[in-house]
Amino acid sequence: MVSQAGLVGGRARAHTIAGNRSGGPVAHTDVIVLGAGIVGTSIAVHLAKRGLGVALVDRAGPGEGTSYGNSGIIEGNTIFPPGFPSDWVELLRIAFKRSPRANYHLSHLPRIVPWLAAFRAASRPSHLIETAQLMRPLFSRAVAEHEALAAEAGAEPYFARRGWLKLYRTDRAIAALMPEIDLAALLGIANVPLDRDEARALEPALAPVFRHAVHWTGAVSVSNPLALTRAYTARFAALGGLLLTGNARTLHRANPYWRVETAAGPLDAGDVVIALGPWANDVLGPLGVKLPLAVKRGYHRHFRPQGNAALSRPVLDAENGYVLAPMEQGIRVTTGVEFAARDAPPTPVQFDRLLPSARELFALGEPVEAQPWLGARPCFPDSRPVIARASRQRGLWLAIGHAHWGLTLGPATGRLIAEMMTGTTPFCDPKPFGADRFTR
Ligand SMILES: Cc1cc2nc3c(=O)[nH]c(=O)nc-3n(C[C@H](O)[C@H](O)[C@H](O)COP(=O)(O)OP(=O)(O)OC[C@H]3O[C@@H](n4cnc5c(N)ncnc54)[C@H](O)[C@@H]3O)c2cc1C
Repeated sequence: MVSQAGLVGGRARAHTIAGNRSGGPVAHTDVIVLGAGIVGTSIAVHLAKRGLGVALVDRAGPGEGTSYGNSGIIEGNTIFPPGFPSDWVELLRIAFKRSPRANYHLSHLPRIVPWLAAFRAASRPSHLIETAQLMRPLFSRAVAEHEALAAEAGAEPYFARRGWLKLYRTDRAIAALMPEIDLAALLGIANVPLDRDEARALEPALAPVFRHAVHWTGAVSVSNPLALTRAYTARFAALGGLLLTGNARTLHRANPYWRVETAAGPLDAGDVVIALGPWANDVLGPLGVKLPLAVKRGYHRHFRPQGNAALSRPVLDAENGYVLAPMEQGIRVTTGVEFAARDAPPTPVQFDRLLPSARELFALGEPVEAQPWLGARPCFPDSRPVIARASRQRGLWLAIGHAHWGLTLGPATGRLIAEMMTGTTPFCDPKPFGADRFTR
């Protein structure tokens, strides 16, 4: 049973509902947020700040899911989502498992053919431009919303405001980037094209194995994404929010409420927000909410730098599809995507493909962990998240599918959905993030 003291301290209201199977009291709060990743935590803070009683429920500790292992880049500058490869040479390299940018489990492909077809269609240049424009209002608030939350949460020491650096080894690769640079100019997104020496003036530890670079100056990087989510959770608790352990799969209707079983007992609320990242369909499927959410798995591993080698901002080796991100634990090397079942055993073969290039670029020393970490980016085929009320389900809200940008967009999503839920004018048009785009 949820303790009365906890509920009073946590602003949630407790009462007994006749007919509860165990006959015991059922706690009640205004909103239950399921999933304490960066998205759910940010939503919980925004709702609590608006005076609602909020319980944030996770089966594990806050930030220990996908939000633990990202590259730590708050990309206010993002323009195009990573698309389906249009270059046949690259596609063949992926098919023959030679590319460091993508891997796949053959057994999984038949299951995601429709998703891949939709992803391919959404990767046409005209669609990518449309996606960039639809996502812009959300992205343009990404850094500001993080900064506001971090200031409240005392999390600013985790931020570095030095942008991020994308490196290109060939003239062909930088030429292919030009449409993105042109669109950046139209959208007013700051970037500075650099030659090799200029880039090395920013990051002297990079070896001169590339020809071009672009410094996206507006990005902020995070030195410890787990600690950041934990700091936002502490802010939520300080606002009177309740953090509970529980299994989201127990979500069911207990009319007129939604009910979740937690370690502290059953909890009811009029509204529930699904912020379960790659696990969202585990809960939505049984409720009859069918959405084309797939995962693009990704790995990271930390390495100690050799000698005095250091990086002061994340670096993307564009043609080789990995990021070197300076973290408290060491240099975090993150991989591109892997199409495989979410829960299939790890197959971190991309490290074998990318490490020679990474070691050529930067003096990586010994790995910190025995094994790479595996995460799963929750992705819709059009690369847009769903931030919306579920249709035909009263009080059910969705904040899922943030793909490559969940860290970036968590706090902006928190504000948007909190504004929608409390009837305030949303800071941007939520229509592009509706779930009905898949059912129309
Ligand atoms: C290698 C890699 C690099 C990335 N780099 C970046 C980057 O630089 N910038 C960026 O913006 N994004 C990046 N991303 C993407 C980003 O990490 C994700 O989009 C984001 O973490 C998703 O957050 P979330 O809160 O939706 O999901 P999660 O963090 O996965 O949170 C979901 C939560 O739900 C909980 N949960 C699941 N099932 C249950 C259940 N049954 N009951 C209770 N709780 C449950 C989990 O424990 C978890 O805490 C990267 C991702 C990867 C894999």
